[in-house]
Amino acid sequence: MQITKKNTLLVVNPATGETFEEIEETGPDQTEQYYHKSRKAQASWGKMSIEERMVFFRKLRLYMVENMREIAEVISKDTGKVLTEAITADVMPTIDAIVHIEKRARKVLSPQKVSTPLLLIGKKSYVEYMPRGVVLVISPWNYPLNLAMVPVLSALAGGNAVILKPSEITPLVGKLIGELFNKVEFPQDIVQIAQGGKKVGEAFTQGDPDYIFFTGSVSTGKKIAEAAAKKLIPTTLELGGKDPMIVFSDAHLKRAAKGAVWGAFTNSGQVCMSTERLYVEEAVYSQFLSLVKEEANSIKRGIEKDADLGSMTYIGQKKIIQHQLNDALEQGARLAVGTPPEKWVNGMFIPLMILTDVTEEMDIMKEETFGPVLPIVKFTTEEEVVEKANSTQYGLNASVWTADLKKARRISRRLISGSVVINDVITSVANHHLPFGGTKNSGIGRYHGDAGLRVFCHEKSILMDK
Ligand code: NAD
Repeated sequence: MQITKKNTLLVVNPATGETFEEIEETGPDQTEQYYHKSRKAQASWGKMSIEERMVFFRKLRLYMVENMREIAEVISKDTGKVLTEAITADVMPTIDAIVHIEKRARKVLSPQKVSTPLLLIGKKSYVEYMPRGVVLVISPWNYPLNLAMVPVLSALAGGNAVILKPSEITPLVGKLIGELFNKVEFPQDIVQIAQGGKKVGEAFTQGDPDYIFFTGSVSTGKKIAEAAAKKLIPTTLELGGKDPMIVFSDAHLKRAAKGAVWGAFTNSGQVCMSTERLYVEEAVYSQFLSLVKEEANSIKRGIEKDADLGSMTYIGQKKIIQHQLNDALEQGARLAVGTPPEKWVNGMFIPLMILTDVTEEMDIMKEETFGPVLPIVKFTTEEEVVEKANSTQYGLNASVWTADLKKARRISRRLISGSVVINDVITSVANHHLPFGGTKNSGIGRYHGDAGLRVFCHEKSILMDK
């Protein structure tokens, strides 16, 4: 994507450079009108029973299953990722989220009876889950369908109307989302799409939302929090990560090497819970490095049908990767796989890189890279590795590999992160029963799981005399 002329987003496939269409930006002056329409639509949607709302969810799910390939093709065009990745990591998890909401919404969002103390004998107490009203969802470009649709659908399940501001980097998917809701005839304006970048995001944040669900970088997250605080608007912030993976010598090393490479390079490393730091126990370090190198070298990148990985999505990310790499190489880090920035041929196909001889002080070990770079470090003791793993500003996800599950669970409790995956990477996000979110600068709040449905409602306490 590039912005060509005023108020227009030009859709470009980053893998091929092919241009598709121009999408009009939503003018910041339309904010009021959007909120007005949303409030009108919410008034009837909020009164529907959960079962009535789920009829629309079912229609959407069936439509998405039938049109999975076409949806994935739009994602692939907009992001440069290969079709397989678009289907397995963006479309299918979204369909799975709908299944989860269809199964859980009634149980989780129906009034819950609670105990009443003896002091209030004769009375009944219960909690009702009321819609918040209009939810503003602001989403990023790396999984443009899933990271927009899951909060949108969770908010809708609770009886809210939604304004979605998708990333300006992937406006074609933003447009597609609007079309999906129209195709299966969700009530008019219950989901409205506001296209555009920072300015449009700011205008809608400063508008009249009852809740803001933001996914994106730490710096933007802080700005949203600041704007929301001025009006006391509650928010969920799903932000960046610098996830550690810890491999002990008793782990299944071949599996762990596959996990490390997949965790670091899937979606070309443009994943909030990407494996961004790999800590390997000294006794198996050399052996493990060889396994990881072999695995990484077997990955095929390109636009061909049999390619494992496509291109980067956002050209701006390249600068960050370049800066971190050059800084690390200048300070003595070495590339075990890949080439330094000056030898990169096609900017959107940055090579996969494995870095050794890194130190904890380097930016590449402290700041989110969001690209295909995997730094590897040795460790000798449990104490040392836990301290290093916890040493960044982030705390989104972590991964621990060992045959000793007692040790794995002990370590997982000590890691400061929203989730920990034992003997695998990333996959916790694929289980919609598990809440997802970060600690420290990786964010505030949770989605997925029961918490992810209730967050879009306010709890009303009712005490009733019979
Ligand atoms: P970004 O912060 O640049 O943009 C995210 C969204 O915010 C976009 O829609 C953008 O237009 C909008 N925006 C930008 N400035 C704004 C402002 N001042 N007010 C309102 N809206 C504004 O992030 P990005 O580059 O799109 O996404 C990459 C980042 O997202 C990475 O840091 C990644 O780790 C993070 N991320 C987190 C999760 C998670 O679930 N924790 C998931 C995916 C991505």
